[in-house]
Amino acid sequence: MEAAYFDGRSSRRQRVRLRAEAGFLLLAGEGVERRVPLAELEISEPQGRAPRTLRFADGAYCEAPQDAALLALLEELGHRESATVRLQGRWRWSIGALAAIVLILAGFYQWGLPWSAQVVAPLIPAAALEQVSSQTLTALDKGMLKESRLPAEYQERLTRDFLALAAADPALEPYRKSLKLHFRSAPRIGPNAFALPDGQVVLFDELVQMPASDAEVLAVLAHELGHVRERHGLRQLIQSSVVAAFTAAYLGDVSSLAAGLSTLALTSNYSRDMEREADDYAAATLRRQGRSPAELGSALEKLARAHADEDEEGDGKDWLSSHPDTRERIRRLNSQ
Ligand SMILES: [Zn+2]
Repeated sequence: MEAAYFDGRSSRRQRVRLRAEAGFLLLAGEGVERRVPLAELEISEPQGRAPRTLRFADGAYCEAPQDAALLALLEELGHRESATVRLQGRWRWSIGALAAIVLILAGFYQWGLPWSAQVVAPLIPAAALEQVSSQTLTALDKGMLKESRLPAEYQERLTRDFLALAAADPALEPYRKSLKLHFRSAPRIGPNAFALPDGQVVLFDELVQMPASDAEVLAVLAHELGHVRERHGLRQLIQSSVVAAFTAAYLGDVSSLAAGLSTLALTSNYSRDMEREADDYAAATLRRQGRSPAELGSALEKLARAHADEDEEGDGKDWLSSHPDTRERIRRLNSQ
């Protein structure tokens, strides 16, 4: 059969004839003649109609169209396509392999990733936690967050109660140094509070002004301390960083990695299990202090109503009916 030959040193293309003989490839053309055993040939995998490459050990190679003549030549040479190539030719196997990859990735995302994050989270040194938390807060202060307008006397009183709440739990001891309550305003975000991985908690004026009673605000802060204690924020951070790093490596865009970090704190996209864990923690903490877990339930209800009013400018849907998790959480807290 006819093929194109390149000597691997120049871009010159030579027409040659190929023939198989007793396990050897015989190549003949103008000024070139080679006789190479099959074992010394590197034969490319078939890819659609693209020409195949037969590469010699010295870098020279042949290009031949993937046609009946080539297949006959390869067969005579004794070349066997790899198992992968043979499986690729069967659509059942290809679809099966694709499904397996999707299942493995989904399984890793669903179970493997949270599990590894849970194992890794306690190993992160406190200094790193403090650094990443402070940087996040600084970034947010430059962007979405504004100074609080709550009276100093209110801030002092709530800070005292917050620290007393945290002091009652020995498990929060490692965070003692960085535990802090920050007051900020964020009209564009609305009523909210969030915890940073090192125990700094940020409370928005809008939550206090819903209005929420001191007991309700404190119940929300107890819930946030639950996220700190169980390292939920850190675990989310690890998980999303792995996903971002994987995406960046795969898609070749590293800037997406940096962008995700500070939005994570605001959206605090905790899993349903994490929210339940933080609720249970808050309920136990409140009860220990002679307070009622129902305070958190009523705070959640007010939060839901406040965000529903925002949504009403849009499609007017009931926020609680589109957030069944919140309704379920309120029911659980009220029944405790
Ligand atoms: Zn939460």
